[in-house]
Amino acid sequence: MKKMLTLVAVLLSCAAFAQEKLTVASPDKQLKVEISLQHGKPSYTVNYQGIQVLENSPLGLVTTAGDFSQSLTLVKQESHSIDKTYTQSRIKKSEIHYVANQLICTFANAEKKEVQLTFNVSNNDIAFRYGLFQYKQTASCIVEKELTGFHFPAQTTTFLSPQAPASSGWMRTKPSYEEEYQAEAPLNQASKYRLGYTFPALFHVGKDAWALVSETGVTGAYCGSRLSESQEGTFSIAFPEKGENNGHGTAEPGLALPDNTPWRTITVGTSLKPIVETTVPFDVVEPLYAPSQVYKPGRATWSWIMWQDESMNYNDQVAFIDLAAKMGYEYILIDALWDKNLGYERLASLIKYAQSKKVDVFLWYNSNGFWNDAPQGAKQCMNNPIARKKEMKWLKEQGVKGLKVDFFGGDKQETIQLYEAILSDANDYGLMIIFHGCTLPRGWERLYPNYVSSEAVLASENLIFNQHFDDNEAFNACLHPFIRNTVGSMDFGGTLLNKRLNRNNNGGNVRKTTDIFQLATAVLFQTTVQNFAITPNNLTDVPSFEIDFMKQVPTTWDETVFVEGYPGKYCVLARRHGTQWYLVGVNAGKTPLQIKLNLPMFAGKTVNEYIDDDKKNPLMRSVQVKNTGETTVTIQPEGGFMWVK
Ligand code: CA
Repeated sequence: MKKMLTLVAVLLSCAAFAQEKLTVASPDKQLKVEISLQHGKPSYTVNYQGIQVLENSPLGLVTTAGDFSQSLTLVKQESHSIDKTYTQSRIKKSEIHYVANQLICTFANAEKKEVQLTFNVSNNDIAFRYGLFQYKQTASCIVEKELTGFHFPAQTTTFLSPQAPASSGWMRTKPSYEEEYQAEAPLNQASKYRLGYTFPALFHVGKDAWALVSETGVTGAYCGSRLSESQEGTFSIAFPEKGENNGHGTAEPGLALPDNTPWRTITVGTSLKPIVETTVPFDVVEPLYAPSQVYKPGRATWSWIMWQDESMNYNDQVAFIDLAAKMGYEYILIDALWDKNLGYERLASLIKYAQSKKVDVFLWYNSNGFWNDAPQGAKQCMNNPIARKKEMKWLKEQGVKGLKVDFFGGDKQETIQLYEAILSDANDYGLMIIFHGCTLPRGWERLYPNYVSSEAVLASENLIFNQHFDDNEAFNACLHPFIRNTVGSMDFGGTLLNKRLNRNNNGGNVRKTTDIFQLATAVLFQTTVQNFAITPNNLTDVPSFEIDFMKQVPTTWDETVFVEGYPGKYCVLARRHGTQWYLVGVNAGKTPLQIKLNLPMFAGKTVNEYIDDDKKNPLMRSVQVKNTGETTVTIQPEGGFMWVK
């Protein structure tokens, strides 16, 4: 009998050793993460309101300082509650209250080296990361592999964008997050190039739940990551391709110890509201430096989008400065080729002319460098610190307010360090930064006070290049609020009021969307410096109420409220600027969409409605909203509507 009791005790302790479970739930208890050790291997599950969002999914890191993916034992666990408020002028919302429960688990591997796993769980967001320590004299490491996976249930469908091959595309400038998202694809479908997917990644878990997977807090201390191909429903963290950055620099990130990996984030909801409204990319990071001055948001005109390369000449730039002045816009963006076509002296006099019209200047640069063959200048100014600081000193003397830097080399740590170096130097010279041909921003609005936005999307230029993108414009616009634009500011360069997409509005590609759709995207797409694609002829060839709308549209938002929509089909959202609300809706369908909306912010008010009539002609009228805030609107196919109050 005594022998048997001993045996039971041994079995019990083996069971305890074989499976250790730790849980952390959101403050409202609806979102639960369970972390387990199964035979020394860490994994986790995610459950929201009883719906299994992630099935058992792997965790772990393999580094040159130790293998933290197996033979782990739990050393300790700590719980904290986080309650912080912060203000942020360059995202979808200005005052943010972040409340989360935090679980920090410390595990030891077979060599007794410890790794820390931190999970922050707020009501609809999970952010987690790994922390490594200095191990005796080992004060640095290379992270060879991150095992973190996302194992979605079999009924899940996906909204994903494929990773492009390194050094592919025009002048070998890819990957640059400019691939097409596929809506509602099967879970285990191979990606276009068999290289996995870029962030952010949207998943529809049956009919029950939505999950958006991304990452944040990526600085020069790490690389940008992506998702692997699905292995039976599991997508794993993958590092850059070896060929990125022209093959230079390692794909695996290096860490000085002690340090943490970036945060992996999962936003979860039964509706899309938490996905569209999430602030998790900014909640878990802090500013890395103070702004050297107040950076002013605003609107800009730019000739390049509609008038293309030939417009990089003094007179055409003057035409767009005059357009900006007439619109009351704060900026002109002087795009590629100014170095050859104008030169520094003529540029200086152009900047003076702009300033005389109360228009400030953003100026375009090529980031390269050796990472691709993009030929446009100005180049060789941003890729090394000596040239960069010399250039920025001159720019500051001329009163230039911001730069648009294009054509980066990928997601390797070496390239992320270049982004960070440009941002940091630019702040020293009072310059804001927009990135193009670039990676996804990952919490950068909060990390870097002079960072404005990034392209990292199939932007407006594609509407000029290829009719295919005009045919799909409404579909793509109805994806961005749920995916790309919800995690970071997006330099789309939109609101095209030409019907034909060329200089004289008489040739080139055909715009399929309505004028009201275009106006709506000025609010739908979020970035605090909007480069609008309007042209001088639009002052006289579109109804004056359209121009009046574009004159007053703000670029900063105190609040963003998701009203209704479905990725790729339609989207209705409301944004507040001060006391003024802007409600916008767009329809990607081929038939009119009638929707019932409940809009408490407009209840009992008289609003300005901008809408397409049933012949898709734009009109503006005054509408009295019921005291209940309930209304029914019809959005025309590839059309839009707006309310302003
Ligand atoms: Ca581009």
